[in-house]
Amino acid sequence: MQEIRVEANAKINLYLKVTGRRPDGYHDLITVMQRISLSDTLCVKRVCEQVVSVDTGGLLPDDESNLVTRAARAYFKASGAPFGVRVTLEKRIPMAAGLGGGSADAAAMLKALNRLDGDRFDEERLVEIAATVGADVPFCLVGGTRLCRGIGERMERVENDLNGTLVVAIGEEGVSTPRAFAALDERHGDFSEVDPAAPQALLDAMQTGELPAALPQFYNMFEQVIEPIRPGVSECKSVLLSCGAAKAMMSGSGPSVWGIFEKEADAERAVESLIAAGKRAYLCHMTK
Ligand code: C5P
Repeated sequence: MQEIRVEANAKINLYLKVTGRRPDGYHDLITVMQRISLSDTLCVKRVCEQVVSVDTGGLLPDDESNLVTRAARAYFKASGAPFGVRVTLEKRIPMAAGLGGGSADAAAMLKALNRLDGDRFDEERLVEIAATVGADVPFCLVGGTRLCRGIGERMERVENDLNGTLVVAIGEEGVSTPRAFAALDERHGDFSEVDPAAPQALLDAMQTGELPAALPQFYNMFEQVIEPIRPGVSECKSVLLSCGAAKAMMSGSGPSVWGIFEKEADAERAVESLIAAGKRAYLCHMTK
């Protein structure tokens, strides 16, 4: 039976601002998402039995709480022609960390199913299916660098010529995403005072590859509410900066933090220092 291997890449947010609350309880955002090299691997095998089973070596339950299973359900609902698959998921992306790990796995599952299904859907249709699975799944499907609005489903491709080595670090457990949004609600009410304009200075600096011009423009609104209550976020940022990061910032609603380094040797030293301090740390880079 046919088997397909797909890499599921994590993302970081280079810019993230909540601009409004929607009647359905979700929030409108303006965010610049970047695919990074840190990834999980999905092996998807087509089988004769009508099953969708996902083996994560016990890390995640094999049920509907798993985004890979939800992606399969969404795919087969759209195709109307379900088939059986056994999935092995090698997790490397830290979970519930603001790195889009679950969304990346779901997007990889959609890609794998579509290939096993003779490329039934084009990318545009797969993105529509992805949007029914989760807010970050459409981005994970297309990757690269995108300016995203709405809940993340309205995406514009942006050029990113910035160079640098990334270190992604995690110091402690995070706060659930709904709680993080609730904390911003408390502080910003209906978000009417928030400027919803695109971060043009950042987009320009990314296009020309000028890291010094980009540095002051990287932004994450969640730092206002998460950093004061999660000392691990500040600790990781301090280690990254003391090892020479040009900038260190939280990704998504945390608690992961990314640092960008001009010198790879400094980034390697940061990984060693973070691990010595009991944190998890990963050397990676931005990818298309
Ligand atoms: O999409 P995801 O499953 O990560 O969202 C988890 C929760 O985060 C949602 O149920 C919602 O409470 C909140 N959320 C939001 N606005 C977004 C994305 C997520 O309010 N744009």
